[in-house]
Amino acid sequence: MARIIALQTHDIRFPTSKTLDGSDAMNPDPDYSASYVRLRTDAADGLEGHGFVFTIGRGNDVQVAALRALEGHLVGRDVAETLDDLGGVWRELVHDSQLRWLGPEKGIMHMAIGAAVNALWDLKAKRAGVPLWRLLSSLSPEEIVDLIDFRYLTDALTREDALALLRSAEPGRAERETRLLAQGYPAYTTTPGWLGYDDDKLAKLCREAIEQGFTHIKLKVGADLDDDLRRLRIARDICGPDIKIAVDANQRWDVAEAIRWTKALARFDIAWVEEPTSPDDVLAHAAIAKAVAPVPVATGEHIANRVVFKQLLQSGGLSVLQLDATRVAGVNENIAILLLAAKFGVPVCPHAGGVGLCEAVQHLAMFDFVAVSGSLDGRVIEFVDHLHEHFVTPVDVRGGRYLAPAAPGAGTEMYPTSIAEYTHA
Ligand SMILES: [Mg+2]
Repeated sequence: MARIIALQTHDIRFPTSKTLDGSDAMNPDPDYSASYVRLRTDAADGLEGHGFVFTIGRGNDVQVAALRALEGHLVGRDVAETLDDLGGVWRELVHDSQLRWLGPEKGIMHMAIGAAVNALWDLKAKRAGVPLWRLLSSLSPEEIVDLIDFRYLTDALTREDALALLRSAEPGRAERETRLLAQGYPAYTTTPGWLGYDDDKLAKLCREAIEQGFTHIKLKVGADLDDDLRRLRIARDICGPDIKIAVDANQRWDVAEAIRWTKALARFDIAWVEEPTSPDDVLAHAAIAKAVAPVPVATGEHIANRVVFKQLLQSGGLSVLQLDATRVAGVNENIAILLLAAKFGVPVCPHAGGVGLCEAVQHLAMFDFVAVSGSLDGRVIEFVDHLHEHFVTPVDVRGGRYLAPAAPGAGTEMYPTSIAEYTHA
């Protein structure tokens, strides 16, 4: 009988602010960071579960402290029993009667639980010898709904609704898996669009994105309208009418400003406007979405939990759902969010980039295609070409598509040398 014998944490920070990679209207100098957790067991196979929370520098130590607060829940547990009941483990962690006060279900404690849950899924997939997307896609509809806490969701999505959605997708799973393995999953790139890049670098990176096979790019906006108009004109001139260009304001605006600014940018045929305002303000998103239609409103990377996603969907406040692998409480909560999106018929275009987010989130999108929504219509995974070299199983993006990972696990394991070199002193 094997047990979890250690929960190790690492405060890992990359000095990305030196090159302005990742710069936007609200985050001008991010140092891409990971509050990293390793679950070690005494099993003979020596396999470990790895997970992390993505942060952008200062405060990564606070996030690491939150991870350590979970040690008592996880160390000493029987490995097989734990991995057989990840729905139960999720409920135990999220509903801890004292830790819950620090949220509930939002912020650093919730994200720490997400990293631990994702590390458990990484371990489970490694032990099964399959990539996470394939493990999830092999579960029965009943096994999938057992992973989800439907508390606070049932006015929009019940267990029975979720079962019906999953059952209706079941007959096509094998065909879609074959298609995914042959063709990959569509990607878009944010690499050209960081706000700190000058016009020449923007133009050069737009050209490179098209040469690499991308048909969809994204530009950061929201600091200065004249600059945004000039940068969008440069991008549109290079891309021509057929490449999609989305814009991302990273929460910069109030409602009236969001509407005015988005309408000004709409002349460049924008694919969506992302994070126009506070991620907590459901009514503001609904007002903006109504006023700027038909430009779709996208959000999700800072949405704290499934309950806020539910309200955004109910209110019409978002029409592109951008879930994030490390913002909410891990794989389980993201499955609930995928099911909510499917119920409302809204495409999921995951947030990625940062450090390791592409590696992690591709599994959720691919599972969604095979076993939940069954669709690629209007769906793309964000791609940014930074820091993949630190991962044992980095993403493989070719011709503008994510190739389905074949290696066992959740894609979340960093090389020990990278962990050591970038551990914050
Ligand atoms: Mg964004």
